[in-house]
Amino acid sequence: MAVNKTVFLKAQKVLIAIDWGHGPGTPGKETPYIQSLGRKIQEEEFNIPAAKALAAALQAQGFKTMFTADESYDTPLATRVKRANAAGADIFISIHFNAMGHTFGYSTAKGFSAHIQQGMSKTSSAYKLASLMVQELAAGTPQVNRGVVFQPLYVTRWTNMPAVLVELGFMDDPFEAGLMLQKSFHQEVAMELTKAVNRYTGLPYSGGAVQAAKPVAREYLMLDDQGAGVRAMQDYYKKAGYKITVDSIFGKDTKAVVVAFQTKYGLKPDGVHGTATAAKLAEVIATLGNPKPKPVVTPAKPNPVTKPKEEKPMAKSNEPSKWAKETIDKAKEIGVTDGTNLHGTPTREETIVIAMRAAGLAPRLK
Ligand SMILES: [Zn+2]
Repeated sequence: MAVNKTVFLKAQKVLIAIDWGHGPGTPGKETPYIQSLGRKIQEEEFNIPAAKALAAALQAQGFKTMFTADESYDTPLATRVKRANAAGADIFISIHFNAMGHTFGYSTAKGFSAHIQQGMSKTSSAYKLASLMVQELAAGTPQVNRGVVFQPLYVTRWTNMPAVLVELGFMDDPFEAGLMLQKSFHQEVAMELTKAVNRYTGLPYSGGAVQAAKPVAREYLMLDDQGAGVRAMQDYYKKAGYKITVDSIFGKDTKAVVVAFQTKYGLKPDGVHGTATAAKLAEVIATLGNPKPKPVVTPAKPNPVTKPKEEKPMAKSNEPSKWAKETIDKAKEIGVTDGTNLHGTPTREETIVIAMRAAGLAPRLK
């Protein structure tokens, strides 16, 4: 639905200063290490795209927008405030992502909140705007609504216009950290905040329905994926008798193998290694006399694999390694080990028993 011309022209008179929190290199503003991602997420990795999505959503309603911060460095708070004041902005919105600690499980805090300067009254414009923001966010996202928070903050203290700092989730909550890089989540909060601005300014919002964003659970491997997950998958195709290079890179050659496998077993030949393909592959390997492997579908660390390591041949089931053969023969001879399952992982119990036999403190095998 297009914006009514009269509404658009009224909105054109409203300038909104959008402030993304922090900038490249701000220390400590990051999620804990995320296993599935292979790294931490910096707070501004959410703040900047969300702020840009907000600008786009506001502009679509006719509002004028400006950014207060630079992308290349962490712009000082005083500079941000000066820019908004100098431009005569009518509203100031600062975009942030909250945190309690630096580990998942440090706290159970989660959800969004809108912060206004401590000491503001509940009849203030800032309070009105902040209340509308949490209302609209609550209507569109399944996250916890932490409400309006009164706090002494530099940007809300020194700006001349109604100013709200929104925290849109917790970086140390695993679910919410998972939202940070989701484009759909940026757009969702942008639309919700825009609806709040429309209500605040008394101008009707005309835009599409807001859909709640969900973190995308990756249960497939596909072209251009890299890492340990791909390696394990390639290894399985190899076990199933396919000619495949085990290099941790899901390239075109790997895709061709997946397609060939899918075609052979009547699966949708899309070259995407998903749950159905993985299950079938595990089944095929099992029928070849190997122990049934766990299907691999989860991408591991997407760290660039620069130099694929050479595939080490698996030691034959019970052949001792060359370097260890003599010692193992001796150990068998004196009854420290029976020489079975040489490449299995020992439990602590087994290790202790072997050590005690070697020390002569436990009965030898013969
Ligand atoms: Zn922040």
